[in-house]
Amino acid sequence: MVVNQTNGESNGVSPRQPTSKKVFFFDIDNCLYPKSYKIHEHMSELIDNYFQTHLALSKEDATELHQRYYKDYGLAIEGLVRHHQIDPMAYNRLVDDALPLEDIIKPNPKLRKLIEDIDRSKVKLWLFTNAYITHGKRVVSLLGIEDLFEGITYCDYAAEKLLCKPSPAMYAKAMREAGVADVTQCYFVDDSALNATGAKAYGWKAAHLVEAEAKAPAKPAGDYQIQSLEELRDVFPEVFKA
Ligand SMILES: [Mg+2]
Repeated sequence: MVVNQTNGESNGVSPRQPTSKKVFFFDIDNCLYPKSYKIHEHMSELIDNYFQTHLALSKEDATELHQRYYKDYGLAIEGLVRHHQIDPMAYNRLVDDALPLEDIIKPNPKLRKLIEDIDRSKVKLWLFTNAYITHGKRVVSLLGIEDLFEGITYCDYAAEKLLCKPSPAMYAKAMREAGVADVTQCYFVDDSALNATGAKAYGWKAAHLVEAEAKAPAKPAGDYQIQSLEELRDVFPEVFKA
């Protein structure tokens, strides 16, 4: 995967080179690895610590504010930037990049086989995350699948205004970076109901990953609800090798 970090563009060949292929966008966290890894919980702890230290809050207040921002904005950091003039890059270093991922995420041959079974002569594989690029790349590298993707669209913490899923502009950005112009050529899987709903509304074919232990939304999100990524073979057979 070739990524040019200087201008925020990421593309396997050159920025915005158009593709006639379908593009399959994969969310990363709690999607390419299971929720049972508890990385979200690790992250929550680091975020609570961050809130306590940098906003001088009690543990309870820190947790409450963190949860409120998460609910309101989908990202804790969005609240920090909007209301507290926090430097997102410093936050990223102390939260996402400080996670002990090497102890938790190991290469996953079954996942690799699944993704390899997608017909890459017809389908471009693209990562699409609300995390920053350093975290996203670290996760896929530890899973042993980084080489299968042609690029990554991520939440650019260095930007003046944070843009993330499920904002329609974020789906537009992902399409631009992946070089695809037709929404009907876009496939997507994400464990977030909000993101799957946003993708479907944008015209993409969206699968919402809800693991067996997870709570399904009252109203189904996206076009398909799946319990494991293996089910992508059933719901999107057209992207897999015959
Ligand atoms: Mg996710």
